[in-house]
Amino acid sequence: MKKQTFWGGVHPEYNKQPASEAAIQILPAPEQLVVPLQQHVGAPAQALVKKGDEVLAGQRIGEAQGFVSAHVHAPVSGSVAAVEPRPHPSGKQILSVIIDNDGQDRWAPLESHLDPVQLSRDQIKEAVTAAGIVGMGGAGFPTHVKLAPPNQAAIDFFILNGSECEPYLTADHRMMVEYAEDVALGTRLLAKACGAKRVVIGIETNKMDAMQALRKHAGNIEIVPLAVKYPQGGEKQLIKAITGREVPSNGLPHECGVIVQNVGTVLAAAQAVRDGRPSTHRVVTVAGAGVQSPGNFLVAIGTSFQQVIDAAGGTKGTIGKVLSGGPMTGDAQITTEVPVVKATSGILVLSEEQCVLPDPMPCIKCARCADVCPTYLLPMRIERAAILGRWDESEEYGAMDCIECGCCSYICPSKRYLLHYIRLAKNQIATVKQTQSN
Ligand code: SF4
Ligand code: SF4
Repeated sequence: MKKQTFWGGVHPEYNKQPASEAAIQILPAPEQLVVPLQQHVGAPAQALVKKGDEVLAGQRIGEAQGFVSAHVHAPVSGSVAAVEPRPHPSGKQILSVIIDNDGQDRWAPLESHLDPVQLSRDQIKEAVTAAGIVGMGGAGFPTHVKLAPPNQAAIDFFILNGSECEPYLTADHRMMVEYAEDVALGTRLLAKACGAKRVVIGIETNKMDAMQALRKHAGNIEIVPLAVKYPQGGEKQLIKAITGREVPSNGLPHECGVIVQNVGTVLAAAQAVRDGRPSTHRVVTVAGAGVQSPGNFLVAIGTSFQQVIDAAGGTKGTIGKVLSGGPMTGDAQITTEVPVVKATSGILVLSEEQCVLPDPMPCIKCARCADVCPTYLLPMRIERAAILGRWDESEEYGAMDCIECGCCSYICPSKRYLLHYIRLAKNQIATVKQTQSN
């Protein structure tokens, strides 16, 4: 089987089993849910409810503010206990609607369409916007914004990202196996919404069961096998592997005529356009050496990380870290009392031994970091400039093109904190630019 791929990358331990083989379990919604009004890139939604209000499941409780924003809906019926700041997986305190679940699962009326593929491009976009769908792979970018690229850029290629190259995470894999028909429908709908003629699903070859399941429903959608390599699911790497096109430096996929969407996002789109269901639930992987029974759970947005970990049998041994997302790009959490949000792809519970960080040693100029960098950077040069506080120099070396995949830090034999310093440089460059524009 011919496998397409990109230049660079690494082969970390994937640790996908046993979660990849476990069917998705439905987790009953808890007694109280914390639903943040910001679960997306852009402006926070504005609360439409106040303490004491009754809400129905699927009811809009947060109104998007502007184009780059997203609506927020109640995942359960019940009453609003408070609207107040609460801890969020981003590490910030975010204004959230706290809902006491009445256990009745009473839904607001939903507008369904029996033949959704007959809807116009605009009707599909309207349904996606109304449902508050955002990128569910972790980025949280509002999907309706991605479907309407600036200057009406012509899109001829739509790619469903079925790579899920991040170690431990298996939620996309299980969705492709168990909801293949809806994933194919959502792919068709979003491809139509952006006007793409060529529609492709790219899947790494460690998910042959997902490929087989999707083939039954793919119709004229092409399925492209991809090499198992990290970060195969990075947008720029996926586009290069499938189309041979390069996204311009500092640019976005629409600039080369391509739109990429995640598996959870197209599944949410199918359910929104066909069934009128807003984005109130998602599939989350719980994995890592510190969890008893790794698996995938369909959970209501607003369920706490701790409740999902408990559903996986709780923790075992001494815990080193809990991450939102995978080990390469995930964010360490300071508490497990944060809610699952639309972009929570996984909860990774690492043991103490997995979190030991060796002290960095001097650079031996082996260039292995440059050999694996999928964006052709010289990570050791950017790191050096950042350590010296030379932000101009780190920008000249292309710091802003870093996709923060972590391959350089992973491969470095001297265990240098390359990505840490590159992120610092990116933040400083952005701050300097912001100050200059004010
Ligand atoms: S420099 Fe950035 S893009 Fe390149 S390997 Fe390091 S983290 Fe990845
Ligand atoms: S991989 Fe590490 S030791 Fe090798 S050149 Fe890069 S920073 Fe230096």
